[in-house]
Amino acid sequence: MEFNIPDWEKMSDGLVPAIIQDARTKNVLMLGYMNAEALKKTTESGKVTFFSRSKQRLWTKGEESGNFLNLVSIKNDCDDDSLLITVNPVGPTCHTGTDTCWKEENNSQFGFFSELEDTIKERRTTADDSKSYVASLFKKGINKIAQKVGEEAVETVIEAMDNNDELFLYESADLLFHYLMLLQAKGFTLKDIEAELMNRKK
Ligand code: AMP
Ligand code: ZN
Ligand code: ZN
Ligand code: ZN
Repeated sequence: MEFNIPDWEKMSDGLVPAIIQDARTKNVLMLGYMNAEALKKTTESGKVTFFSRSKQRLWTKGEESGNFLNLVSIKNDCDDDSLLITVNPVGPTCHTGTDTCWKEENNSQFGFFSELEDTIKERRTTADDSKSYVASLFKKGINKIAQKVGEEAVETVIEAMDNNDELFLYESADLLFHYLMLLQAKGFTLKDIEAELMNRKK
């Protein structure tokens, strides 16, 4: 693993703050502090180990609960005074039983696509169907939405074979947009598709 060992003399109390991030979902799980020994133990054991300021000793997260943080990567920040550590968490990270120490669920975030899912849901439930395309399509029913997905899929295939990148991207966006509507009409989200694909990986 490629990272710089912090200059311990410069760290206050010889401790470096370590931000713990889920390697897959990218959610921040917790914040802890490491001394030289804790960092060494973390890299050698593959289980994140802190220096606990309250216990005043090395503390391998999960040592009692079994909710270990399995090490994936370590990165320095720009001026070498904090660490970003990505992990695969075994269970809930917070000792209160929540996924993260900020009382958040450790769900996958799909960035702009999650926003789009929310917008579609919002239009579906509250928008005026004479003004909103999404609302009007939902009003026509699930078969109409499914049919639109089929049409956009065919258009995407045609542009793929035509070798026209601009039109291919345009139709791909149409396809994905209508597909998100179909998913929602069927009561599913991108998270369900993620779960299905991740199941196949094993
Ligand atoms: P664990 O390391 O999960 O076996 O938990 C052992 C003890 O460490 C708990 O009883 C808490 O006192 C403390 N602890 C565990 N997880 C956290 C956390 N995320 N933040 C602060 N303290 C924690
Ligand atoms: Zn810094
Ligand atoms: Zn906590
Ligand atoms: Zn189209």
